Amino acid sequence: MEPEAPETHSLLIVEDEDHLARALRLNFELEGFEVVIASTGREAFAALARSRPFHCIVLDVTLPDMDGFDICRRLREVGDYTPVLMLTARSLTDDRVEGLESGADDYITKPFDLGELIARVRSAIRRRDWERHRQTRASSVLSFGEARIDFDSHEVSVRGEVLRLTTLELDLIRYFAQNVGRVIAREELLQKVWKLRNHPNTRTVDNFVLRLRRHFEPDETQPRYFLSVRGAGYRFVPEGEAAG
Ligand code: CA
Repeated sequence: MEPEAPETHSLLIVEDEDHLARALRLNFELEGFEVVIASTGREAFAALARSRPFHCIVLDVTLPDMDGFDICRRLREVGDYTPVLMLTARSLTDDRVEGLESGADDYITKPFDLGELIARVRSAIRRRDWERHRQTRASSVLSFGEARIDFDSHEVSVRGEVLRLTTLELDLIRYFAQNVGRVIAREELLQKVWKLRNHPNTRTVDNFVLRLRRHFEPDETQPRYFLSVRGAGYRFVPEGEAAG
């Protein structure tokens, strides 16, 4: 029997310095990565729209058309949580802070050691894998308020009463549970739960949240668990927020 082939990791490198981009491509390919190069922000978004998801993005901060911080921010806004490692030419603390605040997982200052960059990319991918694993395991039973939801058996009860939920309702709750406390945009929910990209109508999401409130909120007009955030989306708070 053939030994199982290790998973090939795909990498998007966004770097406008041609010689550096080529050196990175060569070295990551030698390490077994599949590499796509983009030399502008526009090319990066085109590559992201075209390919299946990348395992990691190496993102230069200074690009001809936009900066790496904005690219990272825009990715996170649309719910893309691919690990991002920023390449910054400056070692200013502000840059590092802005990098992390824009949603990057890690940063490395130019000039950098190639071996270290490769190790950091691997570690960012590994961390994301663990996180996924932990989330799926931890999310098999969810309790909040007087509700109990078992995602494995699909048994749902509120105040001891058994409820029947649709698969989509369960998927929506699961996604909320995996993102506790975070404001989630309607577009992100459509993309992650309904698997719809660039869907114009976010009303669907509102209708489903109304259904969840009807099921789980003690008073659906004063939600405590499934909260609306004006102009931004929804937030799930399992400990319940004082109605107000
Ligand atoms: Ca640059």
